[in-house]
This record gives sequence, C-alpha cells and structure tokens, in this order.
Amino acid sequence: MSARAVIDSLDFARGGTELRGEVQVAELERLADSLYDRSGNLRYALVGQTDGRQRLRLRLQVAGTINLKCQRCLGSLPFPVALESGLLLLDGKAGTAEVDIEDLDAVAADPEMDVWSLVEDEVLLAQPIAPRHADGECKDVLETGQDRAASPFAVLAGLKQKQLN
Ligand SMILES: [Zn+2]
Repeated sequence: MSARAVIDSLDFARGGTELRGEVQVAELERLADSLYDRSGNLRYALVGQTDGRQRLRLRLQVAGTINLKCQRCLGSLPFPVALESGLLLLDGKAGTAEVDIEDLDAVAADPEMDVWSLVEDEVLLAQPIAPRHADGECKDVLETGQDRAASPFAVLAGLKQKQLN
C-alpha cells in the first residue's frame, strides 16, 4: 500500500509543480457504494498553474477503469475514467468577484491537501448518475420488473397509487 499523497496546494500551484501517481480503487472509500468491485487503479497527473489573471489553479487528469454496478442487473459495468479538471484554488482572501461562472470547479486551498481525495471527488462527479449496461447487454434480468424497481419515478407513482386507494 502506498502512502497518501499530500500537497500544500498554494505552494504547489505557485511553483508550477507536477505530481504523477496511481491510487488503488480500493483506497477510495466514498466511491465504494457505486462499485461492483474495488479492483483496478487510477493514474493521475496533477499540475500547478497560474492563470492569465494570476490566480492559482490545479489541473488534474485522471485515467483508468472502474467497475461500476449496473443499476438494472447489478452486474459489473466497466467505466473508463478519462477526466481533466481545472480547479481554481480559493484561498479565502480573494473576493467573490474574482470567481466567474466558469470557475464552478473550484476547491478550497489547503496546506495539507489530500491528492487521493481530490482524485476521488472528481471521479465521483464524472461517474454517471444511473449507470446501466446498454439495452440487451444485461445478464439474467427480467427487464420490465427491474426497470420499474430502479426508477425513482416508478416509486413515486407507487406511493401516489397507495394514497388513492
Ligand atoms: Zn446490466
């Protein structure tokens, strides 16, 4: 098991530092709920940058494959992760006027920023809300019943039905 990567985010960005590494999917606790299994690893590259307005940023790339759980058949659904995020570092001193709408990808500066946690945050954002195999690719499933069970709207419809009865 490798040690967690921790950076001083402002220093890291200011110095244009680069960090590359791998994290085992099994280490990412918050991701576990949506996974079929916790095999594999994710490669990441983190680069510190100063943008055109002299603001400090982190550019994060993550690549690899995670095995999501198909919400229809509960089978393994390999999901290729290939994301790139430009994160504006908010150091608490900059006024809110500094933050534009395209800077929604912002993260609080942290002298002890956990890089694995940052990777996990971005993967959580990138994964589909309701992962499913393509039609016809699920295994051993009664399509209609599972589909109804999986839909929150179907659950709501069911509740309404109960109230009416
Ligand atoms: Zn499936």
